Amino acid sequence: MLVPILLAGGVVAGAQRPATSSSTNAASACRACIQAHEDFLASDALQGRGSGTRYEKIAATYIASELEAYGIKPAAEGGGYLETASSPRGATTSVVGELPGTDASATVLLLTAHLDHLGVVPQRPYHGDDIYNGANDDASGCTAVLEMARALAAGPQPKRSVYFAFFGSEEDGGWGARHFVAHPPVPLAHIFANIEFEMIGWPDPKVPPHTLWLTGWSRSNLGPELAKDGARLVADPHPAQKFFCRSDNIHLAEAGVIAQTVSSFGMQPMYHRPDDDLAHLDIDLMTTAIGSMIGPVRHLLDSSFVPAWNAGGRPRPGGHC
Ligand SMILES: [Zn+2]
Repeated sequence: MLVPILLAGGVVAGAQRPATSSSTNAASACRACIQAHEDFLASDALQGRGSGTRYEKIAATYIASELEAYGIKPAAEGGGYLETASSPRGATTSVVGELPGTDASATVLLLTAHLDHLGVVPQRPYHGDDIYNGANDDASGCTAVLEMARALAAGPQPKRSVYFAFFGSEEDGGWGARHFVAHPPVPLAHIFANIEFEMIGWPDPKVPPHTLWLTGWSRSNLGPELAKDGARLVADPHPAQKFFCRSDNIHLAEAGVIAQTVSSFGMQPMYHRPDDDLAHLDIDLMTTAIGSMIGPVRHLLDSSFVPAWNAGGRPRPGGHC
C-alpha cells in the first residue's frame, strides 16, 4: 500500500492518485487494481454473476478486456478470449488467455479461478438482500489471476508459457472447467501445474496473518516449492472439508495434471450468503498474499522444475475424490 509523503508545503503527494506507477509494476501486487476489479465484479450491477447468465458473460467480457490491455493473447477454443460451453441450463462462458514464454517447446503453467456465483435468489434473502455478490467466491480468485496476469506480462518474458483461465458455471457443476479439460489449448500432458485461486478475500484464523493455504498440500511437491521461493503459502488447515475436491482444480487433477487450489477461507458464515460482498473483503490480505505469489510463480516459469504427485497423492478419475 502506498504511504503518502508529506511535502514541505503541506500537500499530501499521491492523495488524488493512489495508484502510482510504483503500484502497477511487475514485482508487486497493485492494491488499487485489486479494489477496482472487486468493485466491478462484486457490484450489484452484475447481479451475482449467476452460472450461465448474461451477467456471467458480462464478467467474462470485462476479464477478457483486462487481459487484452495487459498484452495477454487470446487462447480460447475458436481463437478469441471467450469460450462457450454447454451446461444443463443452456450455455456458460469461460475466458482463456496466454502469455507465451521464450521456450515454445516447454511445458506450461495454468492459473485459474471461476467467474460465476449464485446470482439472485429471491426465495433465499438475507437481511433483505437477495443478490449473491460472491465478492470472495470467487471474484477474489478472478482478481488474483488478473493481477498475476498483469504483473507477469509487465515483466520480462518468462521462459515457460502461462495460461490464464476463468471458468464459467463452477457453482452449477464445473461446466466451464469440464469443457476446458475436454478441449484444452495445449495437450493436458503439457501443463506442468494448475494453480486455482478460490476465496482469498477473508482471513483464516487457523493460519498466520496475510497467509494463504494450498489444498492437497501433501499430495504433491508444488506447495513446498512455492513456499521455498517466498509465497505466503501453507498447508490447508481444514483437511476434513476435502477442499481439494471442491474446486475446479479437481477436474484437472482427475485428468492427471498437478492441480491444487490456493485459498484462505476461514469457514466464515458469509459463505454462500448475500453478505459475501464488498463490505466484508480484506483487501490488505489480498494485496499481500497475491503479491507474495508473483515472484515464486515467475521463478517457477523461469525454472525447469516439474512438480510431481507424492505417493498416493493423485486422485482417482471418476469422481471418487
Ligand atoms: Zn468458489
